[in-house]
Amino acid sequence: MIIFDLSCSNNHPFEGWFRSIEDFNSQTEEGLVSCPHCGSLDIRRMPSAIHLASAPAPALATGESSEAPKVGHPLATLKEAIEQIIRGSEDVGSQFADEARRIHYHEAPLRSIRGQATADDCSALQEEGIDVLRLPTLKPEDLN
Ligand SMILES: [Zn+2]
Repeated sequence: MIIFDLSCSNNHPFEGWFRSIEDFNSQTEEGLVSCPHCGSLDIRRMPSAIHLASAPAPALATGESSEAPKVGHPLATLKEAIEQIIRGSEDVGSQFADEARRIHYHEAPLRSIRGQATADDCSALQEEGIDVLRLPTLKPEDLN
């Protein structure tokens, strides 16, 4: 799933979860995405601040992790998931787009990375078939 920061024509910010950028595009074209504040169907993506490229985690690849997913409050679960992603990824900062490409083209070790990228960088990466996950901008207090 990908989280997009969205905004309507009245500049109401909200978040949407989509399977892919194509899923987002088709849902907005079909008028299936509406602003939760005013119901506007004129939705656009906001420039995003933090992006994450994910590689399969070794524990998942080897099937060692058989723990059942914890069931909790959806927001708590999301925060936990984000915390795990952040703990399990390398911060490459502004080198994010370059490093994501190197990993994709097997020029760098396969791993999860996180860092900053522009919306244009992300679109370009996605067009190259590189999985990029948008994370909401997190403040330390949001994770407590
Ligand atoms: Zn609105």
